[in-house]
Amino acid sequence: MKILFASSEIFPYAKSGGLADVADALPRALSSYTELYRVIPLYGFMSKKDLQLSQSFEVSLGNKKYKINLYTKLQNTLNLFFLEAPLLSETQNLYCDKEGDYVDNDLRFAIFCKAVVALAVNLHVDILHLNDWHTSLCALFAKEQKLALKTVLTIHNLAYQGIFEKETLARLGISEKYFTMDSLEFYGKVNFLKAGIAYSDAVTTVSPSYAKEILTSEFGCGLEGFLTHHKAKLSGILNGINEVVFDPRSDKIIYTSYENIEGKYQNKVALLKTSKLKDPRKPLFVMITRLVEQKGIDLVLESMEKLLQNKLNLFIIGEGEARFTEQLQTLCLKHENFEFFNGYDEVLSHQLYAAADFLLMPSRFEPCGLNQMIAMRYGTIPIVHATGGLKDSVHEDRSKCGQGILFNKQSKQAFLLALKRALMLKKERKQFEALVSFNMQCDFSFEQSALAYLKIYESFV
Ligand code: ADP
Repeated sequence: MKILFASSEIFPYAKSGGLADVADALPRALSSYTELYRVIPLYGFMSKKDLQLSQSFEVSLGNKKYKINLYTKLQNTLNLFFLEAPLLSETQNLYCDKEGDYVDNDLRFAIFCKAVVALAVNLHVDILHLNDWHTSLCALFAKEQKLALKTVLTIHNLAYQGIFEKETLARLGISEKYFTMDSLEFYGKVNFLKAGIAYSDAVTTVSPSYAKEILTSEFGCGLEGFLTHHKAKLSGILNGINEVVFDPRSDKIIYTSYENIEGKYQNKVALLKTSKLKDPRKPLFVMITRLVEQKGIDLVLESMEKLLQNKLNLFIIGEGEARFTEQLQTLCLKHENFEFFNGYDEVLSHQLYAAADFLLMPSRFEPCGLNQMIAMRYGTIPIVHATGGLKDSVHEDRSKCGQGILFNKQSKQAFLLALKRALMLKKERKQFEALVSFNMQCDFSFEQSALAYLKIYESFV
């Protein structure tokens, strides 16, 4: 069985969030079972050094033709293609710049999809595995071309659907016959993700709980009815993490690699030396996040004054909306036990996972979430809102792998209560240390997820 796995990002080449991590780790796990190829865009900020041109061809959209160059890495162990195309490859970011989303994202990702389908035909793959709205049009193009291959779409976050004005149809040369409620139309606009849901043979999302939640109006982002209609082909498979990249025992970018709580403490001491935070004996809480409403940063901000009155240190690293970064910067100037790093920093994020006692993850909704699993692997106890994949991966039932603190209601009161429970737990030294070492032994790999995806692929061949 041959699989082509298409995504708009992949670690370490292009990453805006968890999708990149999954696009790296899941195919790695799958490749021990099946022949697998991966394809991502070659964005303008990526270097062509170490790449070699493998093939060139043209695709057409509407009455325009676009030249595609496919590159591979010189030492390419995992069949990774970098796809260069006009518009798609001319940007310095993935999807947006300071002014907002790129205005030609519809065309950029439609070109990508057309080329991905051509590549799938070229490689004679059996399954084309799509991820999120950026690759969703592949399902429509494959259907239009009556290809024998099967398509699987994984929704990593339903909040992002790729919605464009109706004029997009003409720009992309997509027939008006698809502008209906049971196809691409969405409140008078064109919705790329709907194409993926409508025309893929299977639709998955990244946790069993989120697969149920998206059928409700609270989490369905307007697609709950449409998804319910396609419920028979929808399932939820919990993500794992890349246990090679995220391994405290061998991590080269943390201060000291470690296998136990003593080694972990040294990382905390070292981190505090580089920041204004004092006293490593104080519990250290961290948050490593995109600064958007989804992640519950507003709840943290609301609770901050109260929270910082406790004997603890808090370190937040995040990139995102100015309304949040500005408030965090002001609070950082005011409080000696709060540090804020405004930006995206892979190294600092690892150092924080290693140094912290607790990770805050009060997300309003969370399709899966990787931070909580990375945290547990580094012996950091997650404090999470019981939603989506957080609910599926963090447990208080002491018999289950993946231990943390959960709160049910997304309110300031419930959040502060969970923090209080964390502070109490930290005081129970033996119990706290037992949880840390228990979590460090848990299996958060992609192995189980890979087997579940394999089962779906095998159901088609
Ligand atoms: P999402 O994809 O919604 O942002 P996930 O929990 O699925 O959330 O994945 C987040 C990934 O991005 C994790 O690997 C996390 O460590 C990383 N990350 C998030 N924000 C930052 C940041 N500011 N700096 C470094 N890494 C970050």
